[in-house]
This record gives sequence, C-alpha cells and structure tokens, in this order.
Amino acid sequence: MKIAFIGLGHMGGPMAHNLHKAGHELAAFDLSADACRHWGSEGLRIAASAVEAVAGVEAVISMLPASQHVEALYLGNGGPGLLTQIAPGTIVIDSSTIAAATSRKLAAAATAAQIASIDAPVSGGTGGAIAGTLTFMVGGTAWDLERARPLLEKMGQNIFHAGEAGAGQTAKICNNMLLGILMIGTSEALALGVANGLDPKVLSEIMRRSSGGNWALEKYNPVPGVMESAPASRHYAGGFGTDLMLKDLGLAQESAAAVRAATPLGGLARSLYAAHSLAGHGALDFSSILRLVQKRQTLL
Ligand code: NAD
Repeated sequence: MKIAFIGLGHMGGPMAHNLHKAGHELAAFDLSADACRHWGSEGLRIAASAVEAVAGVEAVISMLPASQHVEALYLGNGGPGLLTQIAPGTIVIDSSTIAAATSRKLAAAATAAQIASIDAPVSGGTGGAIAGTLTFMVGGTAWDLERARPLLEKMGQNIFHAGEAGAGQTAKICNNMLLGILMIGTSEALALGVANGLDPKVLSEIMRRSSGGNWALEKYNPVPGVMESAPASRHYAGGFGTDLMLKDLGLAQESAAAVRAATPLGGLARSLYAAHSLAGHGALDFSSILRLVQKRQTLL
C-alpha cells in the first residue's frame, strides 16, 4: 500500500520503519531535520513536506505530540489544512494521543471531505513501537477499522475497537491516567525500600511476583540499573516524556470535569508530574518521577 507517515519521533519513527520493512511504500515527513535524516538513513523515503507526502497515497498515518499539532496539520492554522490535499477515499489514521473532542472534530471534517478516518492511539511504549507489539485503541466505524487493520497489524499486536470517533482517545486517557498513578506508586514503594536498605533489584522481583505487581515493575522499572532496557538505565533519555504524560493527565482531568467524574488520584498525579516538569525534567522519561519522590523523602 502507498502510505504517508507524518511524525517520526520516538514512536512514529519505529512504527513507520515497521511498515517499510513489511513492504509498504512509504513517504515520510517530520518537521525535525534530524528525525528525517535519521530515518532516511534507515531506508525511509523522506518527502519534502506533508503535502508532498500525501500525494497519491491510499492511507495517511500521523503520530504527533498533542491536539494542537494534529489540528494545525489537518485542519490548518490560519491557512488550509492537509485534509484539503488528501484525495477522497483515502483513510486517515491518527495515532497521536489527543483530546477526544479534537479527534471527533477531525473525523467530522474528514467525513465532509469524503475521507475515512479513525483515531488509533497506542500503548506499549517505544519498546512496543520498535518490536511492533503496540496495543491500538480505535475510535471510528467498524468498517474503517477493518480497512486500517492490515496496517495496524504491522505495528501492533492487540487491536481494540473502543467505539465511535474519539472513543479510542477516551480509552487511552483512562489507561494513561492509571499508568501515571502506577508509576508514582511504584517509585514511592521502591524509594521507601531502598531508603530502608533493600536492594532495588530484589525488592522489584518480590513485588513483581506479589500483589503489587504491575506494568512498571514488569517492563519499565524506574530505578537505574534494575532493568537494562528501561529508560531509567539510560539516564531517562528517550521513552515517554514527562511533558507528554503531563499532557495526558491534563486530558484526563478535562474529560473527568466534562462528566463530573471523581479522579482524585489522577489530579494528584498531574500535580506531581507538573512539579517535576517545572523543576526542569519535562524532557526526561516519565519514570524519572522517581527522583521527585526520592527528593521528597530526603526533605521530610
Ligand atoms: P515525539 O515528540 O518524540 O515525536 C513527535 C514528532 O512529531 C516530533 O519528531 C516532531 O518534530 C513531529 N511533529 C510535530 N508537529 C509536526 C508536523 N506538523 N508535521 C510533521 N511532524 C511534526 O513524541 P512521541 O514520544 O513519538 O509521541 C507521539 C505521540 O504518541 C504523543 O501523542 C504521545 O503522547 C503518544 N505516545 C507516546 C508514547 C511513548 O512512549 N513515547 C507511548 C504511547 C503514546
């Protein structure tokens, strides 16, 4: 299939690479020259612009940071958006984590232009993006999901239909609110054990196989040196940025306020990641929140 892939960051780069390796014909684009250079050297064909990338393709996939980037790309920011350049009949798959309301706005504009679309945010981290084992949470019609499925299967292992347009984003936000809370809880427990003289590797293994077991302990340990593949063991570089987690926790709070749902731990988690970001750690992987709880312990 001929595909345009927009956004070659920590997640988008490896996802595009998996589609390329599966034999699809890609035209990729990112605003970052470094990202284009890197993925160009890995064999991806780099387009000169997003408009050039979408010419003559059957599917457009985007993996951008936040709502404002997706809205500016497709709907325009003072000028015409990319939707005006995409041929009717094409399918747009947006995998960015954004507000459900923005996904619904994009879906309505796409429908008006006779373009199919789904929101398909992912879970699984950069490891999952590289290995092609992501979980996709899809919002849109079952028909459009079936059209997209052969592409999603090249990038992920689990594909869920969450509901209508925007539902994929709602599922993703619920998941990430839980992940943000779990990472703080896991960090607190590990920091407490270490402060009491325990070896973090031993404690992690005990909790992983006990009732405290969770994804952070299983795949993404926040203590440097415990898990070689985790961002903590490379100075929290790469991975899922604190500022992106902060964005997701903000989306969760907005979504909770809209339906008057009580999310006290989600709110607290947001405040803690905000404090961590304000202290200058926004670009570090979100598991670096361990440093905040360690610092708090030394201050108490
Ligand atoms: P990233 O910041 O590494 O990459 C985003 C890329 O988009 C950057 O390279 C940027 O230059 C590019 N970009 C921004 N606007 C653009 C435009 N108009 N045209 C072309 N390129 C543009 O972010 P990421 O970690 O890859 O995350 C992408 C999305 O996936 C986010 O919504 C994030 O919340 C979500 N996500 C991330 C992870 C993770 O572990 N990193 C996991 C699940 C979901």
